[in-house]
Amino acid sequence: MSLIVKKFGGSSVANAEKVFNVANIIIEDYKKGNDVVVVVSAQGDTTDDLIDKAKEINPNGPSKREMDMLLSAGEQISISLLAMAIEKLGYPAVSLLGWQAGFQTDSHYSIARIKKVESERIRAEIAKKHIVIVAGFQGLNKYDDITTLGRGGSDTSAVAIAASMKADLCQIYTDVDGVYSADPRKVPSAVKMDEISYDEMLELATLGAQVLNNRSVEMAKKYNVELEVRSSLEPTKRGTIVKEITKMEKTLIKGVAKDNNVASISVVGLKDSPGIAFKIFNKVAQSKINVDIILQSIGRDGTKDITFTVPESDAEAAVAAVNELNDSLNFQTVTCDTSITKVSIVGAGMESNPGIASKMFEALSDAGINIHMISTSEIKISVLINEKYADAAVLAVHDKFFA
Ligand code: ADP
Ligand code: ASP
Ligand code: MG
Repeated sequence: MSLIVKKFGGSSVANAEKVFNVANIIIEDYKKGNDVVVVVSAQGDTTDDLIDKAKEINPNGPSKREMDMLLSAGEQISISLLAMAIEKLGYPAVSLLGWQAGFQTDSHYSIARIKKVESERIRAEIAKKHIVIVAGFQGLNKYDDITTLGRGGSDTSAVAIAASMKADLCQIYTDVDGVYSADPRKVPSAVKMDEISYDEMLELATLGAQVLNNRSVEMAKKYNVELEVRSSLEPTKRGTIVKEITKMEKTLIKGVAKDNNVASISVVGLKDSPGIAFKIFNKVAQSKINVDIILQSIGRDGTKDITFTVPESDAEAAVAAVNELNDSLNFQTVTCDTSITKVSIVGAGMESNPGIASKMFEALSDAGINIHMISTSEIKISVLINEKYADAAVLAVHDKFFA
């Protein structure tokens, strides 16, 4: 007998038929005598639809507290429907909201971090032989307010339960049958992996492969929770295992990912003197905006330009922050470009292989795609390109390494 945590994403519970499909997957494990805790996301596009409803009321963005109150409703619907389906099939189930399941978070509405899961209630329900269905993506902060964990956060809810309850298995069911070398919906030649290391999966997820939320991978690594990504449509098929792999295979490149949520901010005509970069990035950091790639031009005639990237959702705030410095820095202009995409290759094996970057650039050059910015680390290479060419770039780069 094992304790199994199973997470089902929004597409897996999008309608009544799919809810029953998921109920049957869960019951299969329960019938074998296992304890089963299930984490569910909101049905289909519910979260996006709720965001649209909020925009109808306040296009400028309602307060984050009220957004969290609203968005958490999506998961309340899916957990109750799934529990009803299990009951209808003749098995005992109970649905729990995040706070009922003991999810305590910090107070950063819309992007809260889980501090701990007090799992007594879940354990009590398991002791009563209930299948426990928990709302993903939500928790409670110290003010007893509902918080949400950021888009895709249900993956993290599942890992948090698996970690705090020392589950034997943590299975993430989605609409593809595992982690591939690129999004299998966009790249037909993408290759499914049997396993991938936490570090490589973390990079892929952070760089845009949405199959797993990056925070969930970070937490899985920290608490050594082995994950399996599986398909809810082919539930008996082996998926991809995400785990600690110390002995890396020879594969240089594990995957290609893209991220459209990127904007580049250019500050033009800055004085070429000490302290300028410090002032700009200190100001941006004070606005709690993460800066990714930074490019500074060579000083010419006493002036220089600095270009940096931020998440597109923070672009306006970043421009406003820089503009506040105009009196003291006296630059010429600040511009913002949101029509860019970051395309990245990931692989622990590239560290000692100098040819990898040029192979990636060759693929883009052959496809006639211009590179705006480049950034490298020991485990990834990213380029910024015009978003028009995003899919073509992923295909070209993927096929260069995998075809
Ligand atoms: P869920 O609703 O189950 O959380 P998501 O839509 O968040 O599902 O994630 C699954 C999607 O991730 C797939 O449909 C696929 O298009 C996309 N995806 C992107 N990159 C990859 C990859 N490298 N491997 C597998 N799927 C990927
Ligand atoms: N429902 C939330 C979202 O759409 C959480 C999740 O799907 O994991 O982002
Ligand atoms: Mg997801």
